[in-house]
Formats: sequence, C-alpha cells, structure tokens
Amino acid sequence: MKPIGPYTFETFKEKVAAFHGYPAPGVIIGGYMVVLAQEKIPRDVLFDAIVETPKCLPDAVQLLTLCSYGNGWMKVYPFGRYALSLYNKYTGEGVRVRIDPDRLKAWPHIEMWLFKTQPKKEQDSDALFDEIARAGADICGVAPVQVKEEAMKRFSFGDIGRCQKCGEPHPVKFGEVCKACGGESPYF
Ligand SMILES: [Zn+2]
Repeated sequence: MKPIGPYTFETFKEKVAAFHGYPAPGVIIGGYMVVLAQEKIPRDVLFDAIVETPKCLPDAVQLLTLCSYGNGWMKVYPFGRYALSLYNKYTGEGVRVRIDPDRLKAWPHIEMWLFKTQPKKEQDSDALFDEIARAGADICGVAPVQVKEEAMKRFSFGDIGRCQKCGEPHPVKFGEVCKACGGESPYF
C-alpha cells in the first residue's frame, strides 16, 4: 500500500473519514494527486491551487495543503474533470495532475468508479480501495501549466454598503438591494 505524503494509506483513509464524513475513494485518490503535484513543484514556492471539480477533490487539497476554499488559495472550477493544479502564486507556473484514463486498464475498479459504469452500491468497495492503495499516483498524468493572469487574481467583493431593503451589509457592486432581496434567496 502506497503512502500518501506523510500518511500511511490507512491513516489517510481515517483522516478523510473524519473530514469528509466517510472515506470517499475520490478524496483518497485526490490525496495521491496532491502529493504528486507537490513533488513536481519547487519545494520553496508559495503555491495556490486550482481544482476542476467541486466533488471530493477540493477536500484532498484542503487536507494536504494550506489552500482552502475559505482562504481563497484554492479555486474550484465546476468542470467535472478529475484534475488539479498547484502553481506559483506570483508567476502562475505550475503543474497539473489528472487521472489518465489510458492508465486505468490495469485498474478496472478505479475505471468503473471514474466512469460510473456500475451503480455505486454495486461496486466492490474493498477491491476499489485495494486498487487505489496499490496504484497510488500511477494512474495520473502530469503536465506543466501556466495559469492565466485573470485566474490568478485574488477574489474581492470590493466596497460594502447596506442593502436598501433588508439593511444587511453587502457588496455595493451588486446594486442597491442584496442578491437575496433581489430574488436569489435560498430561503422561503
Ligand atoms: Zn437585502
């Protein structure tokens, strides 16, 4: 069983369960992906992260790096692609790690999981975890990337004022009334 950075497979699986709610295979695979990316960028570089799916993979980044959704050092693109990159936050130079479908021939359970060719409840989770632990980062492709300047920009809401309707502070760039009062509220 291949370790995930400083963690054994079992220890990382427990960490994933504690953070994610259950030991999701995707977060464990993501762990190998994050560690591979970390190995490929210079050790002393301050990096940010881009994750190309909102499912599972962001939690692997948050478990293994200082980049989180909340601190803004990780950006999540809802592409549904199982890939991430770590890049120099000043220059945008980095590496992108993905699951390479051509490398899944030897790992049928991982392939089944990725392509969802069988319903989750019919998948053999012991066999899947066994393959994940033996494959490690062998299923990954790595390539250098240059992140676009606009994608590197720090997100900001800008100036804050009070909504004319509910009175709550909100970004003035959204207009006189806040998004919720403007009809986008998730609440009745
Ligand atoms: Zn309002």
